[in-house]
Amino acid sequence: MSDGTTTEGRTPTAQDIVGRDKDPHLDDDNPFEAMMARFDHAAELLDLDPGIYRVLRHPEKQLIVSVPIQRDSGDLEVFTGYRVVHNTARGPGKGGIRFDLRVTLDEVKALAAWMTWKCAVVNIPFGGAKGGVVCDPPTLSVGELERLTRRFTAALMDILGPESDIPAPDVNTNERVMAWIMDTYSMHQRHPTTAVVTGKPVEMGGSLGRREATGRGCMIATTEALKHLGLPLRGTKLAVQGFGNVGSIGAHLLEQEGLTVVAVSDVSGAIYNPNGIRVEDAMNWVRDHRYLSGYPGAEQISADELFTLDVDVLLPAAVENAITRKNAGDVRAKIICEGANGPTTAGADRILEENGVFVIPDILANAGGVTVSYFEWVQDRMGYFWDEGMVIDRLNGIMTNAFRDVLAVSQRHSVNMRVASYMLAIERVAAVHRLRGLYA
Ligand code: NAD
Repeated sequence: MSDGTTTEGRTPTAQDIVGRDKDPHLDDDNPFEAMMARFDHAAELLDLDPGIYRVLRHPEKQLIVSVPIQRDSGDLEVFTGYRVVHNTARGPGKGGIRFDLRVTLDEVKALAAWMTWKCAVVNIPFGGAKGGVVCDPPTLSVGELERLTRRFTAALMDILGPESDIPAPDVNTNERVMAWIMDTYSMHQRHPTTAVVTGKPVEMGGSLGRREATGRGCMIATTEALKHLGLPLRGTKLAVQGFGNVGSIGAHLLEQEGLTVVAVSDVSGAIYNPNGIRVEDAMNWVRDHRYLSGYPGAEQISADELFTLDVDVLLPAAVENAITRKNAGDVRAKIICEGANGPTTAGADRILEENGVFVIPDILANAGGVTVSYFEWVQDRMGYFWDEGMVIDRLNGIMTNAFRDVLAVSQRHSVNMRVASYMLAIERVAAVHRLRGLYA
């Protein structure tokens, strides 16, 4: 395996890449292995140079650190943290930091590679990275969380930096955690360095429009898809899984474009009204009641039913593996816009393609977030901040171009949008590897 081919001499599969110590059967429900399988497929179609293929299979850096902190009780506890930089050919590594009990090195490696492809699809000058600390945030006090964040940042000092590796929020991390990272890094550098993280509070170098960016990107991709398929915006029916940052903002912006939101769901269940649910009312309801459940003016339906409704567009914006082999055949929507990361399994992909469903893949559909993170980094480095209109205009330009670029590859190679997005991303990264050559 060390030379990049398997002992059988065949092209390595996702299982080879993700790790042989896991289940030997490729697990359709493991989004990371599914992602790697998609990478392999696209690389094969591109007839990618075997040397570059080998380079892209391996992350550039993998750091495992022990993070000791003092608990409020006075006890010392040691957590394990990871940071993986997958590829920096096109620019510094970019990717979130998650605090979660399920964090593993394999998962972080795959997510870092995912970021490389996502940044390349939207053609922003970043590579891919990801990090995480194995911990259970609800069991940590705010003080413990701050100490954990600061000590983890200190442990990553050698690899973090605006020119090398730039974290962002991810599962269980937020603006506040990013502010602590920026402060810790700046204390070590002896000067304020806002561009070392994105997703910061606006008061300290964050960008206007970042909060809405992923939902806005979904709206732009969906409207492009509707135009491409010759479908109208007005009256087009939409169902949304997940009513958090991406789902609620995506739904609200699509409603403003003329679509009718007939169903939305969150962790408390799904609600449906064939005549339309006013998204702002539902947002206000969630603000006051925390969950959608009990929202008046819509009937309660099961979470599974949401995917089988007679709608034109589905926006899965909650969890991984929402659309699987089991329910893909029941999807009646013409378009799926993947707001979430990995909402569709590889098995479901095949069924959706057979049924003619147009899937806007996650690495394109939800790339609005990382695009505005890029804008944040640019503004921090310039020390000059844009108004929200400028952010929206530029996001519009980047997302529209990315959609059209992926569509062009899809048409040229007669492949679906997912395969096309991987082909486009891999080719963009490979092109830079060819130009840069190999430093020896
Ligand atoms: P969030 O925490 O703000 O919202 C998640 C929503 O999903 C909540 O409404 C929650 O109740 C709901 N939910 C959870 N489990 C559910 C289930 N089983 N069925 C239905 N609803 C369920 O999270 P978010 O930031 O909106 O992220 C959603 C997805 O989008 C994730 O996959 C995330 O990785 C991806 N994503 C987010 C961003 C971003 O900028 N926020 C960027 C790229 C990708």
